[in-house]
Amino acid sequence: MTTFSEPEERVALREAVSKLAGKYGRAYVEKQAREGGKMTEMWLEMGRNGFLGVNIPTEYGGGGGGMSDLAAVIEECAAAGAPLLLMVVSPAICGSIINRTATESQKARWLPPIADGTHLMAFGITEADAGSNSHKITTTARADGNDWILNGQKTFISGVDEAQSVLIVARTEDAKTGQLRPALFVVPTDAPGFSFAPIEMGWLAPEKQFTLFIDDVRLPRSALIGEQDGDLMQLFAGLNPERIMGAALSCGIAKYALDRAVEYARERSVWRDTPIGAHQGIAHPLAKVKIELEQARLLWQKAAALYDAGDDFGAGEYANMAKYAGGEISCNATDVAVHTHGGNGLTAEYGLANMMVSARLGRIAPVSREMILNFVAMHSLGLPKSY
Ligand SMILES: Cc1cc2nc3c(=O)[nH]c(=O)nc-3n(C[C@H](O)[C@H](O)[C@H](O)COP(=O)(O)OP(=O)(O)OC[C@H]3O[C@@H](n4cnc5c(N)ncnc54)[C@H](O)[C@@H]3O)c2cc1C
Repeated sequence: MTTFSEPEERVALREAVSKLAGKYGRAYVEKQAREGGKMTEMWLEMGRNGFLGVNIPTEYGGGGGGMSDLAAVIEECAAAGAPLLLMVVSPAICGSIINRTATESQKARWLPPIADGTHLMAFGITEADAGSNSHKITTTARADGNDWILNGQKTFISGVDEAQSVLIVARTEDAKTGQLRPALFVVPTDAPGFSFAPIEMGWLAPEKQFTLFIDDVRLPRSALIGEQDGDLMQLFAGLNPERIMGAALSCGIAKYALDRAVEYARERSVWRDTPIGAHQGIAHPLAKVKIELEQARLLWQKAAALYDAGDDFGAGEYANMAKYAGGEISCNATDVAVHTHGGNGLTAEYGLANMMVSARLGRIAPVSREMILNFVAMHSLGLPKSY
């Protein structure tokens, strides 16, 4: 039977996560971002409580739940003002890919520390010359006896300074051109030949982005996750979760912004004793955000339910639409929240201006709004491919 309410366990999970994340809150994130700090303390506490690994099977130290649970966790963190961006990469993308495609010994090695947060695995697919077109990536793996030799460059890779390894999307020499047949490798961040440089971003956040240089990095055979020259589905085992998590993160940001705006609209009065929230010019945009936020949440919940049920094609369609809706509502909600606060919306004290930039990321990464529209036009509507 279809139901629109979440199971009791997930409701309890949300409450517990919200309590923990609320202890840190927006002030913690802003302070860490301004002082060059990290979210490590919160990350490890989340891990100790089992919240980072709710999607990972219990035999590998996880909670035995699904993407619906993990996305609820990231949504609650963001709604408390403390989004954990790296949950999108480590447990969601890398955890899901390893769980779906790795050997037993690889799972036993990587999943428990990913689940408890003691091993952070970043994820690198983007390359400067390929951009949205991943079929153009040129990071290449060459077999050398029992080893692999990896060469290439990546850009915009989040959290590499905090990570112990990066799951790198490459292609083998034999499949160097044409449609991407991905080969995925776990590369330790201290491997000889692997280096990284920070990209100076205009966005103030504890999580940093990096350019990676991979020069003749020698890896053992066991570093290859899944098939060499694999089909795209082994990649989408992680990219659909990435989109679902991106959507839930965006919804959490929107919820945080809406809550702050509603509080302010109730308290602030500038004409007689009427709070500004009594004016429809303020109330209607907030009500619209509420409606569009609930729409976006339904989309990611449906995408996650399809993914957890093993319907990868259905999950792909809904994960894309959810990511689109999430990006839109996080941008709209933060804009309305800033506007409701008047000048205060742009002060550091209220923390909303910087959040607007975080929200904007939801329209660009991991897949841009236009590429989602291209996907929906082609796959959902059957229109000709436009690019
Ligand atoms: C903060 C941040 C963190 C990130 N973290 C990671 C990470 O951890 N790992 C990782 O691998 N990547 C990461 N990325 C990269 C991210 O996934 C890419 O930025 C994204 O996929 C878009 O690629 P691009 O920036 O090269 O834009 P481009 O592909 O150059 O696109 C530029 C613009 O053109 C538009 N466009 C492109 N093609 C078309 C078309 N056919 N039709 C219409 N419009 C089109 C796009 O929508 C976009 O608006 C991160 C990016 C950011 C900003």
